[in-house]
Amino acid sequence: MKAIRVHELGAPEVMRLEEVPDPKPAPTQVLIRVRAAGVNPVDTYIRAGMYGTPPLPYTPGMDAAGEVEAVGAHVKRFAVGDRVYTAGTVSGAYAEKVLCEESQVHPLPKQASFQQGASLGVPYATAFRALFQRAHALPGDTVLVHGASGGVGTAAVQLARAAGMTVIGTAGTDKGRTLVEAQGAHHVLDHKDPGYIDRLKDITGGRGVDVILEMLANENLGKDLTVLAPKGRVVVIGCRGSVEINPRDAMSKDASIVAMSLFNASEAEKTSIHAALVAGLENGTLRPVIGREMPLSAAAEAHKAVLEAGAYGKIVLVP
Ligand code: NAP
Repeated sequence: MKAIRVHELGAPEVMRLEEVPDPKPAPTQVLIRVRAAGVNPVDTYIRAGMYGTPPLPYTPGMDAAGEVEAVGAHVKRFAVGDRVYTAGTVSGAYAEKVLCEESQVHPLPKQASFQQGASLGVPYATAFRALFQRAHALPGDTVLVHGASGGVGTAAVQLARAAGMTVIGTAGTDKGRTLVEAQGAHHVLDHKDPGYIDRLKDITGGRGVDVILEMLANENLGKDLTVLAPKGRVVVIGCRGSVEINPRDAMSKDASIVAMSLFNASEAEKTSIHAALVAGLENGTLRPVIGREMPLSAAAEAHKAVLEAGAYGKIVLVP
């Protein structure tokens, strides 16, 4: 089969499309014919060596969707031909076939395309964990999705809207803001507009927002603390540097800053996350937006694109 291989960490061009042997499932594993693989910012951090050193060579990618091609003798939940998506893999998702532990595989409802299935493992799971498991957001809360036009942000807008929250989303382009509105945001702001943060006070009648899902904490955490409602919570999801904050802004409101890494989710939490995502796909409240489809051979270009400004949903690779 063909797979992207990384023999040394570095620039996007270290990713090469190569011919490698087909993987064989161990008794607890599932082999999936990949129809689409999701490209996440974390894939670029790992490739660049910012997340330690994976055993080399390796195939990048955690998110894929496709059909089950073979199952190990102890696999109970899946059979050959099932439509599935992955949340983590054993052998890497940027490939024609991917090996996973059974626990990393979830059924892909018929309502979702393979491209949409490749958008779930990291982005939707992150949005769900941030909103419900870390911020403990409730129906009736007002939520700011600070960076709502990308993979995690569009997911968060859909999840919050479906749960009965008032949703405010931000994006840096007109196209992104139109997208955020179409996902169900009640209010949409431009995070490049110098005055946008003050508009939150008007939108919330001066009270502030209950929850902020923060995609770029190094830019925004200080500002976030000034627009929280009493007992408000900021969840740090994305951060690309350091930031100065005034803790007094949090003290005066009994506010919390919590952070999250999807890698810290327990097995029980992951089970809960994916049960909710599958239900959301089935009932139509979750509809991943595919902004760009690229061939597997364009993995390097995709890694550059996923870090560029002007996000629009999800980038997927199609083998
Ligand atoms: P993405 O698809 O590239 O989206 C990035 C988002 O950040 C876009 O909505 C972008 O908006 C927005 N953004 C850019 N400048 C901003 C600013 N000044 N203020 C607020 N938002 C801004 O990436 P993603 O997959 O959604 O991931 C988002 C971040 O979360 C990344 O940093 C990623 O590494 C991180 N993440 C963390 C976890 C975790 O476990 N903690 C899991 C998944 C992702 P425009 O392009 O419209 O300006």
